[in-house]
Amino acid sequence: MPGRNCAFCILHSAFLLNSTSIFCKIVAGQLPSCKVYEDTITLAFMDIGPIVPGHTLVIPKIHVDPLTAAPPEVLQKLILVVQSIARAQFKAFQADGVNVIQSNGRAAGQVVPHLHFHVIPRFAADGHHWNWQPRPYAKNDEMEALAEKIKGALE
Ligand code: 5GP
Repeated sequence: MPGRNCAFCILHSAFLLNSTSIFCKIVAGQLPSCKVYEDTITLAFMDIGPIVPGHTLVIPKIHVDPLTAAPPEVLQKLILVVQSIARAQFKAFQADGVNVIQSNGRAAGQVVPHLHFHVIPRFAADGHHWNWQPRPYAKNDEMEALAEKIKGALE
């Protein structure tokens, strides 16, 4: 029974549902969704515009955005559900692969401002291609300098 020490109750009081988030409306049942899985912390449902058939979204039920703001308990549960969905996609569709995508901010391509993981089954001939263009570093020591910056910012 939920009590004062229930992690989900504590999180719920700290992160209220955001009434303007389209995904919060899905959680609240105010918008329809095709659910695949849910528990007290997470919801998985079919993406309305799949890159490949079977494309599923995994979200926290509380309003969290971006990834860096997610409480550890929520993130731990989310990634385990992402793993379960990926396993199910391999099994249900005999997928050749699975992509897990998670975007933060418009510059990263995020459209819906509510933390979500895309779990996308992939097939050798599914016709989808990522438009990634690998680039060389401008200077020999640039990679080391960037690594130092990240290391210096780690908390
Ligand atoms: P983002 O670009 O923010 O990483 O991805 C947002 C995803 O949410 C897109 O793949 C889009 O198709 C999906 N989406 C947006 N609105 C809805 C909706 O109302 N229902 C469902 N099921 N998916 C949605």
